[in-house]
Amino acid sequence: MNKQKSILVVGAGLCGSLLALRLGQRGYNVRVVESRPDLRRTNINSGRSINLALSDRGIKAMRLVGVQDKVRSLCIPMNGRMIHESGGNTFFSPYSGRTDEFINSISRGQLTALLIDEAEALGNVVFEFDKKCKEVDIETRTAIFRDKKTARETEINAHVIFGTDGAGSAVRKSYFLSKRFLFSYSQNYLSHGYKELSILPTKKGEFRAQKNALHIWPRGNFMLIALPNLDGSFTVTLFLSYDEGPYNFKNLTNPEIVTEFFDKEFPDALELMPNLVDDFFNNPTAPLGTVKCSPWHYKGNTLLLGDAAHAIVPFYGQGMNASFEDVVEFDKFLDTHQGDWETTFKTFEKSRKKDTDAIADLALDNFVEMRDHVANPIFQKKRQLETLLETHFPDEYLSKYSLVTFNENLGYHEAMTRGRAQDKAILNMIADRNLNTNPNMSKTELKKVLDRVLKETETIIEEDRLAQTMHY
Ligand SMILES: Cc1cc2nc3c(=O)[nH]c(=O)nc-3n(C[C@H](O)[C@H](O)[C@H](O)COP(=O)(O)OP(=O)(O)OC[C@H]3O[C@@H](n4cnc5c(N)ncnc54)[C@H](O)[C@@H]3O)c2cc1C
Repeated sequence: MNKQKSILVVGAGLCGSLLALRLGQRGYNVRVVESRPDLRRTNINSGRSINLALSDRGIKAMRLVGVQDKVRSLCIPMNGRMIHESGGNTFFSPYSGRTDEFINSISRGQLTALLIDEAEALGNVVFEFDKKCKEVDIETRTAIFRDKKTARETEINAHVIFGTDGAGSAVRKSYFLSKRFLFSYSQNYLSHGYKELSILPTKKGEFRAQKNALHIWPRGNFMLIALPNLDGSFTVTLFLSYDEGPYNFKNLTNPEIVTEFFDKEFPDALELMPNLVDDFFNNPTAPLGTVKCSPWHYKGNTLLLGDAAHAIVPFYGQGMNASFEDVVEFDKFLDTHQGDWETTFKTFEKSRKKDTDAIADLALDNFVEMRDHVANPIFQKKRQLETLLETHFPDEYLSKYSLVTFNENLGYHEAMTRGRAQDKAILNMIADRNLNTNPNMSKTELKKVLDRVLKETETIIEEDRLAQTMHY
């Protein structure tokens, strides 16, 4: 493959910066063009959520490019969910019974800046900012950018163009508008949106709530979550319907009603948020949606990666992790088909799409789980039992959450298939009062529970497999 030929990456977000770094490490000449200002030099909000949960699939990608130690210093481990119930009671629910399994809160801006710095330092990767891609001629591999400062338009021709320009991708739009091939595309919005708020640190810079947890205030049809930041603050996100229920984004229109809503639903959070009203009216309300499309590539000319190819709702904390995993998986195909971009793109997409479709579906499932089920007694019993199983039989039992979040060598699709069957097995047996859930049972009793759960899971997987083949 002629590495002197130019590669253009549209969008220097999390995925584009990592991709540029990896391609640069492989010796390609890479030009990355980003619509926003350089986040290392301006005090801009780095995009959507201020902080994110980084987990094992994302960390595997950091290892691929050798920045795992630098990234670790930006992370705050979150070992479980701190649930804040309606009555004010709180309880901690670990993400796993294995102590080495936790997720990490990390700043989007700091992580992106680190990846850009590392890529730039290679010498063969250049970044340009404030240039928005308007369209791409996918046949001639030419992208048109508009400079946001001068309003001048420039054309960039490249041997290969990668679209890593996020959920609203201009590259993807060019696929759609080109009408050169059969391009399938779907975009589904939730009826809920989100708004970012904050819990500021104490005057001494300390955290006002338990630091090593992802805080959740589940309230059935809506919820509040909070993730810690290195400066002692928490970024708080409200997920709420645009127009349903007694309180919604459409009717929260003045400080009194916003305060009334928080006082009624999240009084313990309100106590920590004297800045609530300012945050609420200064910060935007943004939509949440799922984007699926195919194919991701056009010939050997262009390829979509990250949210541009598969944007998902944020409830599994996996969008960035999946976008990083795209780069890890893509990298393998670069090895296999050196010199043939079209085969590289085609085979990568064929192997990858089932996994990104699976995490899109899992993320939607988790919306219901987080806002509703975590406070539900059967669900809580199931979580307690799973933690017991993971603690005493760490090599034999992996919950769905663990399969998805901490098992980076298992594809999302396989994690989903096994995890869903296992959930169904446990929940059915608990609902039928047909499973010992006593937290103080002996290890022998627990082993019997494990064997029954694993057996029932295999039966469900087999039944589902048979049901699927019968469609044909
Ligand atoms: C509220 C919320 C919380 C989330 N929490 C998590 C989490 O905890 N864990 C997790 O793994 N994921 C999370 N995600 C998902 C995560 O943010 C995305 O999956 C991730 O940002 C995808 O990276 P990307 O580089 O593909 O896209 P983006 O991060 O969106 O980057 C796209 C880049 O392209 C640029 N761009 C856009 N259009 C153009 C254009 N026309 N020309 C040039 N440049 C352009 C943008 O400015 C941006 O820099 C969350 C998302 C949301 C909305």
